[in-house]
Amino acid sequence: MGAFGWIDEQAEVRRRAGLVRVLRPRPADSPLLDLASNDYLGLARHPEVTEGAARAARTWGGGSTGSRLVTGTTELHGELERELADFCGVEAALVFSSGYAANLAAVTALAPHGSLIVSDAGNHASLIDGCRLARGTTQVVAHAEPDAVRKALGTHDGPAVAVSDAVFSVDGDAAPLAELAAVCREYGAGLVVDDAHGLGVLGDGGRGTPYAAGLAGADDVVVTATLSKSLGSQGGAVLGSARVIGHLVNAARTFIFDTGLAPAAAGAALSALRLLRRQPERAARARAVAGELYDRLTAAGLTAVRPDAAVVSVRAPSPEGAVRWAAECRAAGVAVGCFRPPSVPDGISRLRLTARADLSGEQLERAVRVIGETRP
Ligand code: PMP
Repeated sequence: MGAFGWIDEQAEVRRRAGLVRVLRPRPADSPLLDLASNDYLGLARHPEVTEGAARAARTWGGGSTGSRLVTGTTELHGELERELADFCGVEAALVFSSGYAANLAAVTALAPHGSLIVSDAGNHASLIDGCRLARGTTQVVAHAEPDAVRKALGTHDGPAVAVSDAVFSVDGDAAPLAELAAVCREYGAGLVVDDAHGLGVLGDGGRGTPYAAGLAGADDVVVTATLSKSLGSQGGAVLGSARVIGHLVNAARTFIFDTGLAPAAAGAALSALRLLRRQPERAARARAVAGELYDRLTAAGLTAVRPDAAVVSVRAPSPEGAVRWAAECRAAGVAVGCFRPPSVPDGISRLRLTARADLSGEQLERAVRVIGETRP
């Protein structure tokens, strides 16, 4: 058995449940029609974006060489932070090596000892882990229910924050941000919003979900984002007031003790951001493709969640059914995401499709035909 013998027991339980995860390296010239990635605007392989990465690597090196407070902040990081903040209509931004690290930073640094964190039951794992690491006490509340947040905040005396995805990663539904912000204001609480799936898709020209909800620049709202979805790069960001960003620089452990974002990732994200500013119609196109995908799926008799952004979620009958369905789609040339427990709560299994701005009507038709024909 040895020290790690218990791993085999866990693996056996997973194997019997048909829930073993496997890595499938993707060739550069994959023939699959991609409805699985988060490259919502089709920018990850855009020549301006890849050139932005290459130029940054040539200028600044393959890595940032140190933590942000030592040698890991290049002028390129500063430029990216200024342009991101300006685009999203906030005072300041801070970039991280991932969206995951950005979420850990925002939640832990804004929830000190004695504070209350009110967390939506559908939040992403990185927000959940932020709550687990924070010194404050977490109360999980019903999904997308501002009244549940009000009730939780009403029980607490002292600093408090509500924490929510802006667009939920599995079902693609948007949080009621304006209502949440109003409830938080009633109680003097902060609001941390994870806009990983909204930046680049929602709001004027892709300025994000908080922007669309009229919350951009509010000093009691803090936004987190990823550079790895719409912006086709890698990394994360926190956006907010200069006061909050200054606090994170001094207090957020995933900022202080992590090596700075790689220059190539910063360069790619900056090029993608500039491209999006020049071509704001890409955001509207991603939303339109999502709507068209949803219409085609429901016309084919499939049960899908009406998308608020670029994620379209299709109900699967069971975890095993979802796994088999996704495998059959892949065998028929269409890559789709597959979510089942433990990634999502029991009783919820989904195919997760992403609507990219660069998908054609013919590609959508093919994808829906394959998904319909392979349904369990
Ligand atoms: N938040 C949400 C809602 C996400 O879906 C993800 C990525 N899956 C993250 C945060 C983490 O971002 P990153 O991949 O940049 O670490």
